[in-house]
Amino acid sequence: MPFSTTIAGSLPKPSWLAEPERIFPSWRLEGGDLHDAQRDATRIAIFEQVRAGIDTVTDGEQSRKHFVHGFAERLTGVDATKRQTRGIRDDRYEALCPTVVGEVRRTHPIHVDEMRFARTLTDGPLKITIPGPMTLVDTVVDEAYGDRRALAFAFADAIADEVADLTAAGVDVVQLDEPAFNVYFAEVAAWGIEALDRALATAGCATAVHVCYGYGIPANVQWKANLGMRWDQYAHVLPLIAESRIDQVSIELAGSRVPPEVLALAGDKIVAIGVIDVATERVETADEVNATIDLARRYLPDDRILCSTNCGMAPMPREVAYAKLRALSEGALLASVGL
Ligand code: ZN
Repeated sequence: MPFSTTIAGSLPKPSWLAEPERIFPSWRLEGGDLHDAQRDATRIAIFEQVRAGIDTVTDGEQSRKHFVHGFAERLTGVDATKRQTRGIRDDRYEALCPTVVGEVRRTHPIHVDEMRFARTLTDGPLKITIPGPMTLVDTVVDEAYGDRRALAFAFADAIADEVADLTAAGVDVVQLDEPAFNVYFAEVAAWGIEALDRALATAGCATAVHVCYGYGIPANVQWKANLGMRWDQYAHVLPLIAESRIDQVSIELAGSRVPPEVLALAGDKIVAIGVIDVATERVETADEVNATIDLARRYLPDDRILCSTNCGMAPMPREVAYAKLRALSEGALLASVGL
């Protein structure tokens, strides 16, 4: 079996849809025009993945401004108009976040229509990405619960309701994004994994969690520069994820200082290794991608390796992102020779 490919989640948005190369862009349109433009951008996102030969595709997150806020702000109990600045990811950077003002509930579907539409665009495997409970807790201002664990479980229940509908809509993989896992190890152990399993309890399809070092934005690049020569975050997190009920874990590997031996700590999980660095606009060669896959093969059997990007590509120039999709696919093909 050749190595299978996917992406972490997001792709750049066209400039006619939203401000380009931003993590939190403004939409260019509104109302029905915005809806139509999001659909067209989704068509392009899936077309470009399929054209590049990516096996499991996403909608490129073309219908949401931001990977967390797009979900959080549509929950009851979260006031999107009451936005406050707070330090997130252990104060790595400041962000304008919505406020939790009451009991968090998911009273209507959030990304389900988007996925129903995406489902009509491809017969291949389709993945949806949703922020995980801990990352949601870490990206809102809580004025209602006063307890991160309790709020995480409320978010987990809201996600579980959404996941049930997404499964019914024909999604093949549900991935929860938990960049916060790389920051709060004690909380991951105390309640993070439990919240993850609770959020995915309704999934009638494959499940995944993405844990990364973030988009290639200056604050993250600076943070990484201060993490030393060996990034040991995954050494804390992977053994905990190994105990979860999740099927896959998506991590960063290309161009990083992640010691590859941490891959051996992932239990029996399928590991989506990042073979594309999103912190640089330089496009990898197929040989470089192949070399990163080779590195992973020292610690994982071939049938537990999935090839992916380190993180989302939303803030990149479009043509760079599309070229990286092709590099990902070509590198995986090269690594598959003889399999
Ligand atoms: Zn990421």
